[in-house]
Amino acid sequence: MVAAPAAADGDGDDDARDRFDTVVLDAGHGGEDEGARGLRGIVEKDLVLDITQRVARRLEQRGLRVVLTRNDDVTVPLETRTSIANDARADLFVSVHANSHRTRDPRGIETYFASLEASDAEARRVAERENQAFGSAPPASRGDPLVALLGDLIATEHLVESQHFARLAQEQMAGSGGVSRGVRQAPFVVLMGVQMPASLVEIGFISNPADAKALRERERRDALAQALAQAVLEYGRRYDAKRGLAEPRTSEREGS
Ligand SMILES: [Zn+2]
Repeated sequence: MVAAPAAADGDGDDDARDRFDTVVLDAGHGGEDEGARGLRGIVEKDLVLDITQRVARRLEQRGLRVVLTRNDDVTVPLETRTSIANDARADLFVSVHANSHRTRDPRGIETYFASLEASDAEARRVAERENQAFGSAPPASRGDPLVALLGDLIATEHLVESQHFARLAQEQMAGSGGVSRGVRQAPFVVLMGVQMPASLVEIGFISNPADAKALRERERRDALAQALAQAVLEYGRRYDAKRGLAEPRTSEREGS
């Protein structure tokens, strides 16, 4: 029998495993999948990669291990994104996207966590669009046993934590200067495949003149990245505190 490398069930690494230390950031689309095309020449796949890399740098500076599902303009299938996250045994999965609408009016930031039922028609539309971009069949049919199974997993495993992170992310991003459209739920395929709390952010509508103008600016991108990084760090602090792992560093603590 060949010795398995470091996969032993020893208690020694339990502490390291329990602590919030690994985040997977998923820049939507890439390569031949451009995502949405917006005003002012903005292409979703490029915008979200830039934001994701800015978030990653900030989190790495704070000592977190960050795994990117792509760090370049490459095509990454859905299964690869979820298996990267699952293989990394990440504590949190955040997928970054930009929204688009056939009219120019809708604008603002939305954060999603997965559910079988979309919270409203708009949420359903967003999930359909993002699922299509992955080249996956939308998990629409409720009779599908796989969908039912996934639904059970979502319901029992990470729903509460995913919702918790979604709230933090939405609060932080909206607080950074965007228009808030709130936390919503919809059946995103990429969120259903990961075995950890997971959330998908739509950082703004690149089909809206005001959002598109702002998202072209480095300052806006930095502010969004900063906000998302803050949400991850805050989530991590609470995660560790719940497990009795965190030393309360009250000096840098803000109320709420
Ligand atoms: Zn997208």
